[in-house]
Amino acid sequence: MRLLTFLRGELFERGIHPPQYKLTAGAPILRLPYAPRLTVPLSQHIGRPAHPVVKVGQEVVRGQPVARADDWLSVPHHAPAAGVVEAIGLRPSSRGPWTESIVIRPHAGATQEDGWGVPRDVDAMSPQDILQAVWDSGMVGLGGAAFPTHAKLTVPENANVHTLVVNGCECEPYLTCDHRVMLEEAPTLIRGVRLAMRATGSRRAIIGVEDNKPDAVTSIQAAIDTAQATDIFVEPVPTKYPQGSEKMLIMALFGVEIPSGALPVSLGMVMNNVGTLAAVGRLLPAGQGLTERVITIAGPGVRRPGNYRVPLGTPMSFVLAWAGAPIDRTSARQLVLGGPMMGQAVAALDAPITKGVSGVLLFRREDMYDHGGRKTYPCIKCGECIESCPMGLNPSTLGMLAAKREYEEMGEQYHLGDCFECGCCTYVCPSNIPLVQQFRVAKQVLREAAAAAPATPPAVRA
Ligand code: SF4
Ligand code: SF4
Repeated sequence: MRLLTFLRGELFERGIHPPQYKLTAGAPILRLPYAPRLTVPLSQHIGRPAHPVVKVGQEVVRGQPVARADDWLSVPHHAPAAGVVEAIGLRPSSRGPWTESIVIRPHAGATQEDGWGVPRDVDAMSPQDILQAVWDSGMVGLGGAAFPTHAKLTVPENANVHTLVVNGCECEPYLTCDHRVMLEEAPTLIRGVRLAMRATGSRRAIIGVEDNKPDAVTSIQAAIDTAQATDIFVEPVPTKYPQGSEKMLIMALFGVEIPSGALPVSLGMVMNNVGTLAAVGRLLPAGQGLTERVITIAGPGVRRPGNYRVPLGTPMSFVLAWAGAPIDRTSARQLVLGGPMMGQAVAALDAPITKGVSGVLLFRREDMYDHGGRKTYPCIKCGECIESCPMGLNPSTLGMLAAKREYEEMGEQYHLGDCFECGCCTYVCPSNIPLVQQFRVAKQVLREAAAAAPATPPAVRA
């Protein structure tokens, strides 16, 4: 059965069309070797940092749990290689401040083949078993949010989920890792989709893929046909940034809007990214934890751009050297983790690849936003930012309040909480006002002001 109810693009005209630069779309996934040291931060997810369960000097095998989850929104972490725990302490991280981490020195000749873990019969698992197994695997959203996957798949007691929405848009420029996963691991993705459907009680799954990736649609459709899955559908959606955000994709697929402050579950939907569910489809049957991920290494400063399967904890400097982009601390270049729109600029070359890093992009000085003394001018009230904001916010007013540090008003009256930092407003602003950067600061200030109570799991269906 094919769904005919989509109103793709008709109700939703916001968003932008930046150049795509998806030059690595044809590059098959290659495996990166182990770096001499792998650094596993205890905080690679939202929620409290995990607790180490190993000691300095201890031998570990690949996939062995090295840190346990501390609360509902925390996840365990696993050794990315067989080796020795060399240190536990503060290390540079992509988040900025140094982070408590476990440093592992891989054994010479350590392989990247299966390690710790006992294969499971996933067909015999109950929804609760699947959720626990996802939690035990340390899965977080691999699209960049790093939200724990077990929490995302847990349906609150008062909700009834009917549809699993799978995000295969990969709308950020440069990034192609999800595209390659859809091409190379479609059967595994379908297995992960099936498991997520059972965990959430979904009756159907819709995989939305931007229409600039027709080969991915074909690949997924072939896997659906092979699996004889009559309740899983793949649907092209218009190529537009930020089509991959939850609200935009649901709008594109179903023509419905998630209300302000609400989650997709309020409409009976749960959403996950293709990379996340492909990993679930691979790890759960093997009974393993997440020890590696696929990332795109690209940008004008990279000589061998491509898609790489990288052991978690690999230092950025090692990744860049492997991709033909060695840089030192004095290079006039900019390193971005994730996509250029929502990614994060990092300064620490020692910072490791973590679960939420989907790309490593290297830009030359002349590629940067503020190159050439690009100045910021006062707001001219042109309304471009309002036109582009996919959430229907008023970035102009929010920007003016941010400049005056009136953060509470931003949150209470102008719905700052609905801003998901897509950067569309900054991209279109003719006055070069760094709007999204201001909003990030404001949100951080508000977060820090809020009480930090431990997270507890919601009540779930019996
Ligand atoms: S960054 Fe926030 S305010 Fe700006 S366009 Fe995106 S959602 Fe709207
Ligand atoms: S796009 Fe820039 S100049 Fe135009 S209204 Fe928004 S903040 Fe002001």
